[in-house]
Amino acid sequence: MEITKLSAVELRNSILNKKLSCYEVANAFIENIKKHEKYNAVLEIFDDALQNAKSMDDKIAKGFQGKLAGVPVIIKDNILYKGKICSCGSKFLKDYRAEYNSTVVEKLLNEGAIILGRANMDEFAMGSSTENSAFGITHNPIDFDRVPGGSSGGSACAVALDLCPIALGTETGGSVRQPASYCGIYGLKPSYGRISRYGVVAFASSLDQVGIFSKNLEDNALMLEVLAGQDENDETSAKAKVDNYTNFVDVSKIKIGVPNEILNMTKGLDCEKNFANFMDFLKHLNLEVVPVSIKNIELALATYYILAPAEATSNLARFDGVKYTSRSSTAKNLQEIYKQSRSQGFGKEVKRRIMLGNYVLSSGFYDAYYNKAKAVQGLLIEQCDEAFKKCDVLIMPTALGEAYEIGSKPSDPVETYKEDVFTVTANIVGSPSLSIPFGKGKHNLPLGIQLFGKKFDEKTIYSLAKFIEKNLK
Ligand code: GLN
Repeated sequence: MEITKLSAVELRNSILNKKLSCYEVANAFIENIKKHEKYNAVLEIFDDALQNAKSMDDKIAKGFQGKLAGVPVIIKDNILYKGKICSCGSKFLKDYRAEYNSTVVEKLLNEGAIILGRANMDEFAMGSSTENSAFGITHNPIDFDRVPGGSSGGSACAVALDLCPIALGTETGGSVRQPASYCGIYGLKPSYGRISRYGVVAFASSLDQVGIFSKNLEDNALMLEVLAGQDENDETSAKAKVDNYTNFVDVSKIKIGVPNEILNMTKGLDCEKNFANFMDFLKHLNLEVVPVSIKNIELALATYYILAPAEATSNLARFDGVKYTSRSSTAKNLQEIYKQSRSQGFGKEVKRRIMLGNYVLSSGFYDAYYNKAKAVQGLLIEQCDEAFKKCDVLIMPTALGEAYEIGSKPSDPVETYKEDVFTVTANIVGSPSLSIPFGKGKHNLPLGIQLFGKKFDEKTIYSLAKFIEKNLK
């Protein structure tokens, strides 16, 4: 039995049954991380991970049975873990150490997880490839010359390479689902408000959520059970009932909606054929597939690239060379500290977003851009609600196609923004969406399909995914 191939559920059971020790498990994964260093998925292995595993063995010997007892987890580099560096993939924060635990880290620790390290990401979660990390790109786990997706590319790559059974990422517009698709694994973006963001570095606060990567559904659902729930430290965390997600329910009677507009949008793209195959596959399983409409879904991408930079602009204002970040050594007064620290600290894409955000919020353009985007958001929410009157789950491709080659995107940033065309809608309307691996592209690399649910109905999408997984085997 190879330890690193075991699922989180299997690891926990083996540990509680004394077949394996936490120490042995943590050590096996850490050795695997070291062996795969060239992928640059993990920025740092925490130096106390093995010690924590040892202490967990003692705790378990005394009867502790946490839901993640002894399970190794890797977190994205924008999630605070007290005392550890949290750099957000930015050289501006390369020495910043978390002063407190994020709620998600607190929950992981309470349930007995061993946090092994932090994963690479696009700087401040802006990007779709991890090419924007200040600490080097992460490589695709299946084809070294390709990107793993992003912004949570390090977390996705880590799970796909068996460096941990579960990893946490974050989503603002697809940063968990798209890398999950590129790496051939599961990636959940929960409903807005499902998981507390306390202690997670904000990108665009009205869209951000913590997301979950895993190789199988049980692990993913188990992690959501641990992380979900209202938190008094995050005003936007929702009161909504937390389900028992690992209890998959019968989905044979559900209706699956295919937005007509999505069929149009996939025309000519690499994902087109695979999406058609997926619809056939569902029909083959005797599931009812119905046409629906989300009339303005084609505007979602433009809407996202107004709302997200606008919010990022204000969230990033706190990084000023005074608090948190490094300070320019050449600055001579306060103005210069702000200006030079930010100029030297932020990378190119982050600066672009700050400019975009300030532009769409500026007095002459606020109505034309920001307010219009807010209005489109309202329409998309209404149209999704309407579509969900006819179906229980929507489906759409996750990404345009397979993972692309490192450095292959043209210098026009909009080409990269297009990567997010299928993912941003779930963030804009606050719905949960799960990317499941389905099919292969022309280079035999994985593709993904999104199961997009009603708000707070993660249970149905997990159950449908389970039904699909069973029938794919
Ligand atoms: N690729 C998108 C962007 O660059 C989404 C990022 C994210 O979800 N964090 O903004």
